[in-house]
Parts: sequence; C-alpha cells; structure tokens
Amino acid sequence: MNNIFQKLNRQIAVLEEQVSHLKEREKQLELVLKSTGVGVWDWYVQTGEVSFNERWANIIGYKLQEILPANIETWLKYAHPDDLESSNAALKAHWEGKTDYYICESRMRHKNGHWVWVYDTGQVIEWEVDGRPKRMIGTHLDITEKKEFEARLAKANEQLRQLSYVDPLTKIPNRRAYEEKLNSVIEDTQRMNAPLSLFIIDIDKFKQFNDEFGHDAGDKALYRVAQSIRKALPRKTDFIARFGGEEFVVILPFTNGSDAIHVANRILRAIISEKIIHPRSPFNNLTTVSIGVATTCSEHGADCLLENADQALYKAKSNGRNRYEVFSTCN
Ligand code: GH3
Ligand code: MG
Ligand code: MG
Repeated sequence: MNNIFQKLNRQIAVLEEQVSHLKEREKQLELVLKSTGVGVWDWYVQTGEVSFNERWANIIGYKLQEILPANIETWLKYAHPDDLESSNAALKAHWEGKTDYYICESRMRHKNGHWVWVYDTGQVIEWEVDGRPKRMIGTHLDITEKKEFEARLAKANEQLRQLSYVDPLTKIPNRRAYEEKLNSVIEDTQRMNAPLSLFIIDIDKFKQFNDEFGHDAGDKALYRVAQSIRKALPRKTDFIARFGGEEFVVILPFTNGSDAIHVANRILRAIISEKIIHPRSPFNNLTTVSIGVATTCSEHGADCLLENADQALYKAKSNGRNRYEVFSTCN
C-alpha cells in the first residue's frame, strides 16, 4: 500500500513539475505575443467556437470582455465583406492541403468605425477523422500603417507614371504617350476593320516667331497652339501629343479621309481664332500651322501613316503653309 502511495506521490510530483514548466512556457509565450503585438485566435472549425486573446480584441479597439462570448460570428461581424472572398479562398486552399498556412491580408471594422488592416495567418493543428479541419490556430497582426504607406506609394507612383506621359511645356501627352496610344489604336481599328487617320501639325515659321519675340514668348505660343488643337478635336477618342519641337501629332481613330479633312479645317480655323500675333506671317500677321493628313486604306496600312502624313506636311509647307494636304496616292 505504502509503495502505491509513494509511486503516486512521485507521479504527482512529476506532473506538478510539468504543469509549472508549462505555466512558465505559457507566461513566456504571453510575453512574446505582448511584445510583438500579435492577436491570437483559436477556432474549432466544425463547431464554430473561437477564443481570442486580449490583443486580438485590442487591435479593433475593444477589450476582450466586450466581445465575449466569442464564436466565428464574432470575426464575421467585424470582417470587411469585400475581403471574405479572398479569405475563404485562402482557407479552402489550406484545408485542401494546397498551402502549408492560411495567409490573408484583410480589413476589420474598428470600434471607432474605421477599417484596420490585419495580416491574418493560421494553420490547422487538428483534423477530424474524415479529413475535415477540426481546430485551427492563427494570429492577427495590425498592418494598417504598412497598408497606408503602400497606398500612398502606389498613388505617388501612379502620379509619376502619368507625369511621364505628359509634356511639361504644353501640358498635353508627349511622344512616349503617342507611341503607346498609336499601338493600341492600330490594334482596335484593325480588329474592327475601321479607318484610322493621323495628322502631323507643324507651326509655320516658328523660328522667326522666336527671333522676333524671344524663346519664352515662343514657349507660351506653343502652349496656346497645343491647347487650341486639343479643343478643336471633336471626339473623346481623338488624341493629340507633342511630337517634338513645334510639331504635334493627332490620332483620329475610326475616322475616314473626308471626316479627317473636316477636322483639319477646324484646327486651321482654331489656330487663326487664337490670334497669336506673328509679325512676319503673311496671314494677317497671325500664327498659323500646316497639317499633313494620312488615312489608312487597302494599300496603306497603319505602319506607314506617320511617314505618309510627314510627306503630306512637306507638301503643305511647299504649297504656301496655313493649309492641310492629304497623302493621296491611294483612293
Ligand atoms: P516652317 O514653317 O518651315 O516649319 O518653319 P519653322 O521656322 O517653324 O521651322 P524650323 O524647323 O526651321 O524651326 C522650328 C523652330 O521651332 C526652331 C525653334 O526655334 C522652334 N522651337 C522648337 N521647339 C521649341 C520650344 O520648345 N520652344 C520654343 N520657344 N521654340 C521651339
Ligand atoms: Mg518643325
Ligand atoms: Mg515649323
């Protein structure tokens, strides 16, 4: 009998030692969690029971006591509805054994009404005999600042990207933008078997303008010319860019030759109406432009539009300026 008691006492002592060891480990774990600011969730998937630690509640502005009793509905109540799809997909992938961990960045509603971004990770630690997940443990880490920083960075990058497509002097798209635009317009018009017209527009005797008024006045005139061409374009899909120097290029998708001529006339009139004085201009001392027009046809595809428009421009210059000419070896 004594022997049995001694044996039991020894076992109790061993168990006590293990319990105190575990408690020590638990304290250490709690300290680690506190210092890292990690919220913990422990979810019995099939029953929906969930327990959270204090930090989990604190991340969304609550004391743990305030959100008890907790179950999976507690999480759903605070989760952003738009993030549920990605979160469910990540869970499914983990449960199907496609990923080692469940990882998802999602938003949770804070007590004050704003959204808090959390880095949500977890892992199934017990499975039902039929292979369904039984218990999952995971963490929440507040990543709101990181997300806000990322959003600001993305916005700044987008602004920079847009700036890289704009000509700083005339505030219209630059040549780089033109090249990208032309490629996409060619694709669209070819797919729809639609015509495409292109202009090259060059200010007449602009060197003399600079000589007369100086380079700064020349810059201002360039801006006015660019803006009046832009305003003279009838359709939203029409596109203007500064090609370089005092030359502009206009892309008119879905526009045939005769419609393009209407637009060219509008531009010529718009520039005259802008009344930019040019003392050496033979056209009432007003600044004018010349336009080379080219349109795709069965003989001439989009590849040679620019070259053809350039030839037409040359003709417009030789024929006296302040006019358009059409590249017309095709019909
Ligand atoms: P044309 O009628 O034959 O086109 O004569 P032009 O004097 O306009 O043509 P040319 O190519 O001989 O000269 C273009 C001039 O445009 C040269 C330069 O003084 C002026 N120019 C080009 N880029 C700029 C610019 O950014 N600012 C200013 N102010 N002038 C520019
Ligand atoms: Mg020129
Ligand atoms: Mg010129």
